[in-house]
Amino acid sequence: MTRQTKIIAEENCSGCLSCTLACSFFNTPEKVFNPSRAHVYIERKEGQNTFEVNFKEDCIDCGTCAEYCHYGVISVE
Ligand code: SF4
Ligand code: SF4
Repeated sequence: MTRQTKIIAEENCSGCLSCTLACSFFNTPEKVFNPSRAHVYIERKEGQNTFEVNFKEDCIDCGTCAEYCHYGVISVE
């Protein structure tokens, strides 16, 4: 069965960036902590203290970001 990583509760996102740090660390050859190298990105909604969570097209659906999100925003099946 194919793994499926999904955003299930975007409203719970705290903007902590753990998902982006984990993704960049585990999915770069150099193992860097660099949100700009992650395949998921977090943007603050304009004028609000809430965040938008999106996967980039190059996401390989590995599920690591779900493991490191402690706010239940991302799930993996
Ligand atoms: S599923 Fe994997 S590749 Fe995609 S954003 Fe999450 S950690 Fe990165
Ligand atoms: S999706 Fe989860 S890990 Fe990523 S910034 Fe939001 S709360 Fe943090």
